Amino acid sequence: MTHEMPKLPYANNALEPVISQQTIEFHYGKHLQTYVNNLNNLVKDTEFADKTVEEIIASAPDGPIFNNAGQVLNHTLYFLQFHQKPSRKEPMGTLLEAIKRDFGSFEEMKKQLSTASVGLFGSGWGWLSADKEGKLHITKEANGNNPWRNGMRPILCIDVWEHAYYLDYQNRRADHVEAIWNIIDWEIVEKRFG
Ligand code: MN
Repeated sequence: MTHEMPKLPYANNALEPVISQQTIEFHYGKHLQTYVNNLNNLVKDTEFADKTVEEIIASAPDGPIFNNAGQVLNHTLYFLQFHQKPSRKEPMGTLLEAIKRDFGSFEEMKKQLSTASVGLFGSGWGWLSADKEGKLHITKEANGNNPWRNGMRPILCIDVWEHAYYLDYQNRRADHVEAIWNIIDWEIVEKRFG
């Protein structure tokens, strides 16, 4: 199978000022394209050639194939979770109930995911995921790792590799993470939670 770029459901400048057009052009157009190209080249003629990115992440040994598959899935989840004008600034329904059950409140979940993302040392991701029982967890993962590798279903992510924010925020990672909450499309996150 050939791995493809996700199609962005918004224009390159639609997420400004939270994420600039220039950052989309580099982060989506160049970084993600490179991960997709690398993955397609690496899996050729291997046991992973016909596997989905989820299957590769669950089974590949640590190394280039796993790293690039992780980054393809991570960025696909990342870029498809945004909306230029979200209809709501918080989730509802079963997701909101689960957040209240597992974190006490929506504000507390936001705080914990922001703290995990801002405090991650080096390059990586902050995640909100559901385990097999539907319980929610916040984790931070280094480099291209994805909670899927540990049997969890990722539903929301914050990319804190410097390429995600440095053009717009330079060293101010915390300001970027704070701003990200304004463009989360909760309808998408709710669907992932299912
Ligand atoms: Mn990235």
